[in-house]
Amino acid sequence: MDLYWNSRVRNVQPYIPGEQPKGRRFIKLNTNENPYPPPDTVFEAIAQAAGRLRLYPDPSSCELRETLAVRFGVRPENVFVGNGSDEVLAFCFGAFFPSGTAGAEPILFPDISYSFYPVFANLWGAPYRSVPLRGDLSLETADFDVPNSGVIFPNPNAPTGIALSAAAVVQAARFQAERQRVLIVDEAYIAFGGESVVPFTAGFDNLLVTQTFSKAASLAGLRVGYAIGNASLIEGLERIRDSFNSYPVDTLAAAAATAAVKATDYYTMINSRIMQTRERVAAALRKKGWQVLPSQANFIFAR
Ligand code: PMP
Repeated sequence: MDLYWNSRVRNVQPYIPGEQPKGRRFIKLNTNENPYPPPDTVFEAIAQAAGRLRLYPDPSSCELRETLAVRFGVRPENVFVGNGSDEVLAFCFGAFFPSGTAGAEPILFPDISYSFYPVFANLWGAPYRSVPLRGDLSLETADFDVPNSGVIFPNPNAPTGIALSAAAVVQAARFQAERQRVLIVDEAYIAFGGESVVPFTAGFDNLLVTQTFSKAASLAGLRVGYAIGNASLIEGLERIRDSFNSYPVDTLAAAAATAAVKATDYYTMINSRIMQTRERVAAALRKKGWQVLPSQANFIFAR
C-alpha cells in the first residue's frame, strides 16, 4: 500500500482533527466552534462575491488585509492571511524554524498545548522539545528562556484555557529577541477575555501573532486565519505561500471575512454571551465538586 510513499510521507504522524459528527440533533462545540451564527452581513457579502467566481481571487487578499490592518492599527504589509490559522501556523514552521538541520536547537512549545505543533515540526523536519506546564497547568514564560530555535504557544493555552497577561507574553518576546529567535503567539481564543499582544508587534521584529475567524467570528467552515507582525516576517510567510499555493483564501472566504471584521458590535454581543455561559457552567461544575481551570477561552478544562 505504501509502495509509492516517499520518506516524508512514511515518517509524518498526521494530526487527527476533532470529530465532525453527522446529524443535527445537538449543538456541536467539540472543536471549540462558536454556537451563534455569523451576522447577516457575512451572508450578503458571500452572495455578492459569488458573481466574481469566474475569476481567480486576489492572490494577496488586499481588501481583507487592509480591513484587518485598519482594525488592528497596523499596515497591510504587517498582515498575512491564509486558509485557516492551521495553514498560517504550518507556514510559520516552514518560514522561521530550522528544517532538517542536524544539531539545530529545538523549537519549544508547551506540554500540554495544541497538538498540531509537533505535527508541523515533524513535517518540516525541525527538532522540537515540549516544555512542561507548572503543577497548576499554568504556563511560565521563564521556562522558555533557554536556548531554542523558536518558541510557539497559544494564549490562552489550549486545551487548558488559561491565559497569560500581555506583560508576560512581552517578556517572552524580549527573551527571544535577545537570542534573535522568533516568538509565535497563537491567539486563536483571544477574543474570549485574554489580552492580545498585537499592539506590541510594532516594537518587536521577532513577534508574530496568529488569530482565526473560526472561533470568535463563528466562521470555522470558511477557513480563514491571519498573522500580524513585522513586515519582514510577513514577507517570509508570503515566500512559503507563493512556493505552495498562490491563492489560499478564495473569493467567497475573503469577502465573508472582510464583512466579519466590520461587524464588531454583533461579535462583541455574542462573545460576551459565551463568556457569561462559560462562567455560569464553571460555577455550576465547581458546586458539584469538579475542579475547573480558570478559562479565558470558549471552552473549559474540568476534572
Ligand atoms: N490554534 C489553536 C490553539 C486551535 O485550537 C485551533 C483550532 N483547532 C487552531 C489554531 C486552528 O484553527 P483554524 O485552522 O480553524 O484557524
